[in-house]
Amino acid sequence: MTEREAQDVLVLGAGLAGLSAAYKLARLGKRVVVIEADPKVGGLAGSGTFHTQWGEFDYDNGPHRFHTGEKHLNEEVLALLGDDVVEANRLSRIFLFGRFFNYPLHGPNVIRNLPKTVLVKAFLDYLAVKVKSLFKKTPDSNFENWVVNRFGRTLYKIFFGVYTEKTWGIPCSRISPDWAAQRITLLSLWDTVKKTLFRPSDGSTPRTLVSKFFYPKRGGIGRLCDRYKEEIEKLGGKVHTSTRVVAVHHADGKVAAVDVESSEGRRSIPASSVLSTIPCTVLATMLAPAAPKAVLDSVAAMKHRSMVFVYLILDRPKVTDDHWIYLPEDSITVHRLSEFKNFSPFSAPKDKTLLCAEITCDYGDELWNESDENLRKTCVDDLVTIGLLGRDEVLATYSRRERYAYPLYDLDYRGNKDRVLGHIASIAGLDTTGRQGLFKYNNMDHSIGMGLAAAENLMGRGRDHATIADEQKWFG
Ligand SMILES: Cc1cc2nc3c(=O)[nH]c(=O)nc-3n(C[C@H](O)[C@H](O)[C@H](O)COP(=O)(O)OP(=O)(O)OC[C@H]3O[C@@H](n4cnc5c(N)ncnc54)[C@H](O)[C@@H]3O)c2cc1C
Repeated sequence: MTEREAQDVLVLGAGLAGLSAAYKLARLGKRVVVIEADPKVGGLAGSGTFHTQWGEFDYDNGPHRFHTGEKHLNEEVLALLGDDVVEANRLSRIFLFGRFFNYPLHGPNVIRNLPKTVLVKAFLDYLAVKVKSLFKKTPDSNFENWVVNRFGRTLYKIFFGVYTEKTWGIPCSRISPDWAAQRITLLSLWDTVKKTLFRPSDGSTPRTLVSKFFYPKRGGIGRLCDRYKEEIEKLGGKVHTSTRVVAVHHADGKVAAVDVESSEGRRSIPASSVLSTIPCTVLATMLAPAAPKAVLDSVAAMKHRSMVFVYLILDRPKVTDDHWIYLPEDSITVHRLSEFKNFSPFSAPKDKTLLCAEITCDYGDELWNESDENLRKTCVDDLVTIGLLGRDEVLATYSRRERYAYPLYDLDYRGNKDRVLGHIASIAGLDTTGRQGLFKYNNMDHSIGMGLAAAENLMGRGRDHATIADEQKWFG
C-alpha cells in the first residue's frame, strides 16, 4: 500500500453518501481514502459544463433540486456552498390531454383543464371505492391495487398508471406497494389536490408544496460534491477518481483488501474498515471468496431502471419558467423535461438555453443502445409535437446514459435485498450505505444523512443509517 492509500476507512464511491461520510470521518480525525470510478465526483448528483461556441452551459446528470426537512442537513449544505447559491421558486407542470396542469395541482386549474367527462367519472369512481371499502377491503398487494383502493380506477389511469408504467417499464401490478406507500412523485398529486383545496388546519406545508429551494449559482448541483472533495482534501483525505473497485477480499469473516483498477493498472489496497456506497448488487458480485449461490441469485433478480438524458441547446433565451415538466402520456417518449436556466439564471448565456429530456429505459435495451442522432430526433419530435419548440431552434444536442438510475421495487425486491444486504453485513468491517448501497429510492438529503450516520456508526455511535428514508414523511 502506498502512502497515498494508507487509511483508517476506505470509502467506495464518491456520490453524496460517500463524500458526506468521508468528510465527517475526516472532521473526526480519521484518515480517509475515497475510490471513485468516474473521472468526476458526484455520482447521480454530479454535473458538468458544455463549453460551446455559444458559451458555457452547466448541466446536472439529471435535474436536481435540494430540499430537506432536517435542519442539520440544510446547514451542512449551505456551509459548503457559502455565497455561491441562488434561490429558486419551484415551478413544475404536467402535460396531459394537450394541456399544462400546474404541479403541485391547483384546484381551479385542475377543474378548468380536465375534460368534464373525465372529472365526473373520476369523482364517481372515487366515491365508489370509498363506499365499497366500507364493506370489503381489497388487499394492497401491488402498486395498482394500492392506488385503485384509495383513488379509484379513473384517477389511477390518468395520473398514476400510465406514467408509472412508462417510468418503470413493467405493469403496475408487478410493482411493490412499498413504492406507492413510500415514494411516488405523481401519487402526491391527489394528496396535493386535497391539500391545495383543503389546506391543513395546522398550517403545515407538505413537502410537495415547498416552493423555494437553493441551488449553486454556477457548476450545477455537482458543485456541492466538488466542495465536499475540496474539504476532504484540505483535511488530508484522498479522493482517487477514474479508479474502479473490482474486488473486495475478506477472510475469517472480516474485510481484508480492495482491488482497484486505474490507468496505473490493477492494485490491491489493504483495508480493515470499508464503507461502500456503490450498488450493493455490484458489491455482492465482487466479493472474494464469492457470495453463496442464493445471494447471487437474488442479485440477478434485483433490477435497476436506467435512463438516457438528451441535452438540447436552443437558440432562444428561455422556453418556459418550469424547472421541470412531466410528460406522462405514452405517445411521448420523453418522460420529463427540465430547463437549467430556471435552476440558476447564471447556468447558460443570456440569449440561449439548455433543456434536458429524460427517457427511462432498461440497460442494454433498444433505447439504451439508440444512436445519439436518433435520440435527438425522438426528443425534438416530442417537443415540437407538444408545441414547446421549433425544429430550427435546436443548435446542438448531447446524450449521456445512467445505468443505475432507479432501484426497481418489484414484488420480490424486499426479500432479495434483505438476502444481499444480510450477506454483506456478515462481513465485519464492510458497511454499505447510500441510495445504491442500500437499494433505496431516496433523495440527496437522505444520501447525505446516510453518509453522516454511517460515519458516526463507524465511530461507535449515532443512528441507524439503514432506516433513513424509510418514513413516508420524508418524501415529496
Ligand atoms: C434523474 C434523477 C433525478 C434526481 N433528482 C433529485 C432531486 O431533484 N432531488 C433530490 O434530492 N434527489 C434527486 N435524485 C436522487 C439523488 O441523485 C440520489 O439520491 C443521490 O445523489 C444518491 O447519492 P449516493 O451517493 O447514495 O449514490 P450515487 O450518487 O449513485 O453514488 C455512487 C457512486 O459510486 C460510484 N461507483 C459505482 N461503481 C463503482 C465502482 N465499481 N468503483 C468505484 N466507484 C463506483 C458511482 O460512479 C457513483 O459516483 C435524483 C436521481 C435521479 C436518477
